[in-house]
Amino acid sequence: MWIFWGTQTQREVLGIAADLCANCNALQTFMITDHYKSDHIQFIRTSAWGYVATTKKCASCGTERVCNKRSYGALISLAEQSLPIEEILKRTNPRIAAKLNDEARKELLGNSSAPAKPESPAERAKSKEELKDLRKVFEGVEDNDAETYKLKEKLNLWDKLNAGQRRELAELVQAYQSKRVRLADTKDFLISMSLQFPGGMGKAGLVAALVLFAAWVGCIYFVPEELRWYFAIGGLPIMLCILLSMALLLDYCVAEAWYRTTLIPRAFAEHISADLLIAVAKDPSLWNIEEWNAAGRILDHRETLATLLEMEIEKNAGTS
Ligand SMILES: [Zn+2]
Repeated sequence: MWIFWGTQTQREVLGIAADLCANCNALQTFMITDHYKSDHIQFIRTSAWGYVATTKKCASCGTERVCNKRSYGALISLAEQSLPIEEILKRTNPRIAAKLNDEARKELLGNSSAPAKPESPAERAKSKEELKDLRKVFEGVEDNDAETYKLKEKLNLWDKLNAGQRRELAELVQAYQSKRVRLADTKDFLISMSLQFPGGMGKAGLVAALVLFAAWVGCIYFVPEELRWYFAIGGLPIMLCILLSMALLLDYCVAEAWYRTTLIPRAFAEHISADLLIAVAKDPSLWNIEEWNAAGRILDHRETLATLLEMEIEKNAGTS
């Protein structure tokens, strides 16, 4: 009779907390889970469940890391995880919320905390309007990186600011908005160009594969009859490897040439910022899933695209 023994594991979901994800580079919700194990013989437990570790798993990218559950506040239930991330952060991770708020406050006020001068009712009404307009910038913004979060927190400090600080903050919000608009333009440009993208192992690879295959079949004809079967069967895997490498190489070459001769000149002609193009090519976290799907295969060789753009920037810096 076989005897099975070993350890069994068990997990218990404790709830949801918000935290900064190092992989997404953004605030995300995390599932906090306790892990236990016990020994068993013949699948019958022979020891009590022993605690092993607590982990946090990012809801966006799925990265799971060991964490200290005591660093969180009260966790929220799975049903509540669609609440705004700011609210979840304040409830479940007051330490990070306080840290970000503190950073926001320091960045805005410096170490001095000169009290704002008393305002007339007319001034107060005007400044309230201004604040309302600035808050509108964040309506519908789903980004939850630390920059966005801190900017929103800075707006919460509005009443404590003097006129100069308010102007500074308004400029920050406008710069943030214009960067968002330019980022969206850059992605739209890539999405619109993706329809013309000739890459993919499509036509060129298929034609090359057919020609090679025909040539190989032709070769078989010239092999002495008694060796033909060996040649055909032995040669097949080699043939397939050559075909696959050729298709991959062709795919790369076609994409690289198209980036160089079509995409990059068009981007410069349409005044798309090369730096932003590099950023969206290098950092998938700047895309949401719909946009990423719409961009399709244009980003298949995005490392190459980024390198070509960097070379182009260097070349232009050299000539000007
Ligand atoms: Zn993540």
